[in-house]
Amino acid sequence: MPRTTPRPGPAGSPEAAAETDVVVVGMGAAGCAAAVTAHDAGASVVVLEKTSAAESGGNTRVSGGAWFQHDDPERAAVYLRALAGDRPIPEPVVRAWAEGTREVSAWIESLGARVLPTGDYTAEYPELPGSDCYGGYLCVEGVLGDGRLFTALEKAVRERGIPVHHETPAEQLLTDPATGAVTGVRTATGTPIRARRGVVLATGGFEGDPELVRTHLGLHDVPVWGSTAATGDGLRMAQRVGADLWHMDNMMAVDGITRPGSRHAFFAMFLYSHGYLWVDESGERFVDECAPSGHGQALVDGRYVLKPGRPMHVVFDERTRRAGPISPDADVLAVGWNVLVEGYRWSKDNSVEIERGWIHRADTVAELADLLGVPPARLTASVREYNEACAAGRDDRFGRSPATLDPVTEPPYYAYRSGPVLAWTNGGPRRDEHARVLRPTGEVIEGLYAAGTVSSTYSWAKDGGFHIADAIVFGRVAGAHAAART
Ligand SMILES: Cc1cc2nc3c(=O)[nH]c(=O)nc-3n(C[C@H](O)[C@H](O)[C@H](O)COP(=O)(O)OP(=O)(O)OC[C@H]3O[C@@H](n4cnc5c(N)ncnc54)[C@H](O)[C@@H]3O)c2cc1C
Repeated sequence: MPRTTPRPGPAGSPEAAAETDVVVVGMGAAGCAAAVTAHDAGASVVVLEKTSAAESGGNTRVSGGAWFQHDDPERAAVYLRALAGDRPIPEPVVRAWAEGTREVSAWIESLGARVLPTGDYTAEYPELPGSDCYGGYLCVEGVLGDGRLFTALEKAVRERGIPVHHETPAEQLLTDPATGAVTGVRTATGTPIRARRGVVLATGGFEGDPELVRTHLGLHDVPVWGSTAATGDGLRMAQRVGADLWHMDNMMAVDGITRPGSRHAFFAMFLYSHGYLWVDESGERFVDECAPSGHGQALVDGRYVLKPGRPMHVVFDERTRRAGPISPDADVLAVGWNVLVEGYRWSKDNSVEIERGWIHRADTVAELADLLGVPPARLTASVREYNEACAAGRDDRFGRSPATLDPVTEPPYYAYRSGPVLAWTNGGPRRDEHARVLRPTGEVIEGLYAAGTVSSTYSWAKDGGFHIADAIVFGRVAGAHAAART
């Protein structure tokens, strides 16, 4: 039977649950998986969630909710090792990931959700060994996005009667001064909650914290595609008790448009025209804009590099403006904070967002350059060179595919600055195959676990559906291991 020792405090408040077996911090995919698994293993569990019920679920809530399918742990391990390249992931973690990701669908079905394939997704890095294991996307009800995965996970937590304390951020880990083992957490209001068996950090990444983003990713104050609650809280809490870090310079970013005054940005997809180019702060093109990209990386000049990985200006023309919405709304891609939580519908011809000033407009490329603050002569030359490549059907400089060489010749011209937009970060406290957080010496910090984007498995390249799978696999591992601790 789950055991919770009640303490004085209003029923349902964190004070009323001042002692429990397992405290789970954060209620996204990793937190829900940890809470449900620990509960089902017989532990009493309390979940602390920073945001309100309407905003909880972090990136899981606004994600595609898709995980990748495979039925071959051997080949999946080969693929993960190849994706990691010269940043190898510890072999026991690779093995746990490869075995665990095969079980994700069965576990979600065991919660009562219907799991079906969606779309026609193939491996993003078919050139790498092991990519043949990749069996496409699976989703709840076979529907990408729309919050369906989070709804199913939240229901499983609720059905078990696991107490969830919303608007209760955890702020500090409690430790045993003699052993350094983690014994609980303190909330932002100062309430200590003792965890007899363990604390699972499942607080998401640090993309919502400008200072951490600047330090570890070299990007200045970029907006996010998902939840702004991902401010690296778990990372900081773990660091304070001596955790080592891993994968801090890895991320997934997208080309996107910022709404002034908001930390949430829109994903720019250019589904209806390829007539656009990317230039840097000096007005120069710097990459094949349409190089096939995985979730964060693309193969450029024989190396897997972050793409997009730097600030840029995206320039297009009237033809592309008219062709269709450059940012998809919920009918096309029901993901992202602005689309799902705020319900924003992008105008069909982009005119509303241009009128609102989110996208600059000018009659000439030189005038557009002035609005962007880049040298007019350089931007004019970049657009001219790009159009020459379109006319020739060959991009000698960056090798952009001829099929994507749509010219940018029809005034007026448009542009926006893409920071780029951070989808999520990958780094955090280093952990082992049991999701136990480690010190720089490799020793385990007893009683402390991390799962999901707070400490993702991915050291470098990663494929579609890998992150939900990772959150669920190591959330389950953490919940089971913590519940079994005495
Ligand atoms: C637009 C978008 C689409 C995506 N689509 C996919 C997809 O289809 N497939 C895929 O594999 N990946 C996808 N991802 C990535 C994936 O959503 C995440 O990697 C995954 O959901 C992370 O789960 P998590 O539980 O680690 O973190 P989150 O889901 O971010 O949950 C973290 C939770 O912790 C809470 N929290 C933070 N700090 C504290 C604190 N101090 N105390 C208490 N609570 C705290 C947050 O409020 C939040 O509820 C997508 C991401 C985005 C942004």
